[in-house]
Amino acid sequence: MNLQFSQNAGLYIHIPFCVKKCLYCDFYSVTDLSLKPRFLKALLREMELVSQEGLCFDTLYIGGGTPSVYEYDEIDLITTKAFQSFNILPDAEITTEVNPGTVKFEQLGGYRKAGINRLNIGVQSFQQKNLDFLGRIHTENEAHRAIEDAHRAGFENTGFDLIYGLPDQSKQDWLHDLNKAVEYNPAHLSCYMLTYEKGTPLHSGLKAGRVQPLADDNIRALFETTIEFLEDHGYFQYEISNFARIGKESETHVSRHNLKYWTRAPYIGLGPSAHSFIEPQRYWNVSIVDKYIEAIESGRLPVADREVLSEEQQLIEGIYLGLRMTRGIDLVWFREKFGIDFVETFKEVISDLGRRNYIEVVKNHCALTRQGRVFLDSITSMFVSRNVSDAEAKI
Ligand code: SF4
Repeated sequence: MNLQFSQNAGLYIHIPFCVKKCLYCDFYSVTDLSLKPRFLKALLREMELVSQEGLCFDTLYIGGGTPSVYEYDEIDLITTKAFQSFNILPDAEITTEVNPGTVKFEQLGGYRKAGINRLNIGVQSFQQKNLDFLGRIHTENEAHRAIEDAHRAGFENTGFDLIYGLPDQSKQDWLHDLNKAVEYNPAHLSCYMLTYEKGTPLHSGLKAGRVQPLADDNIRALFETTIEFLEDHGYFQYEISNFARIGKESETHVSRHNLKYWTRAPYIGLGPSAHSFIEPQRYWNVSIVDKYIEAIESGRLPVADREVLSEEQQLIEGIYLGLRMTRGIDLVWFREKFGIDFVETFKEVISDLGRRNYIEVVKNHCALTRQGRVFLDSITSMFVSRNVSDAEAKI
């Protein structure tokens, strides 16, 4: 599948509120919604303080947290201010995430009027027992209702987030969710493997032995099931967790915004904990909402820290992010960027992985095969250490 890459910038806005924390989530958000009005004011002010004259944006992504805790007139204030403060192209992809537990039909119609043209719905599962395990605030019925409301409100470009790899999850169980998802014919699907992030209640449950994780082999089998099922149902995998519906203009179903992160395009992040990247520099905002508001109310940018990536860090990121994409590492780009021939430099690792059918070099790209994608992290570490025998043990 031919993907179009743009080096235009992306604008990300982090809404740091959730009605309740999900048990697996380590994204920054607070459940004290009384801060919403002050935060909104601060966010609008941050846009004025930050405004990047040199960049041209073709995506705006309102994520979180739970952006749908804000009503449509408030989202309208955000999109309007963003267009006033940044050079956003008229045909930009403008996404907001919504949680089926907080979104209503009237709100969705209002989001469209506010310029939102892509909706990412945090479904996670169509089965109540899974939603209960994950600690989601919404029910299975609310997930269906939110999708139907989105369609009624006129959203054609919708994406669903789903999670798999829950304890004891069978192939049948996961196929049930995938089947329900494709019945709605979404433009995009993100299928994330459940991870046990430190500091989350799920991680504590794991440490205390209350939660038994699914065995690695079963998780890998579910990963392969995902790819096979979605390819059979008209989707193509363009990134390790992301699938776009194939259509006449299939490339438009890819998340243009998320591609920014994997192709190292510039992006600006606003709101607490949001990261920005303008090569070779990365910087990020303070991750505590009160501190964020205080900084802005006293006229300061809420930047917590910044780093300038060394050549080596850039190279590692280039490999890791390139391998996440199914099209792989662009060898011409790699040579131009780092002045070295990727295939020649890593010939031992590539030939070892090639023998096992985990990687292939086709024309100007070096990409993981379907079998290889299962081992993304271990394979990346092989390239980083260039030590085949070390990393072989991990596969
Ligand atoms: S709704 Fe999303 S951001 Fe909020 S706690 Fe759940 S997973 Fe995390």
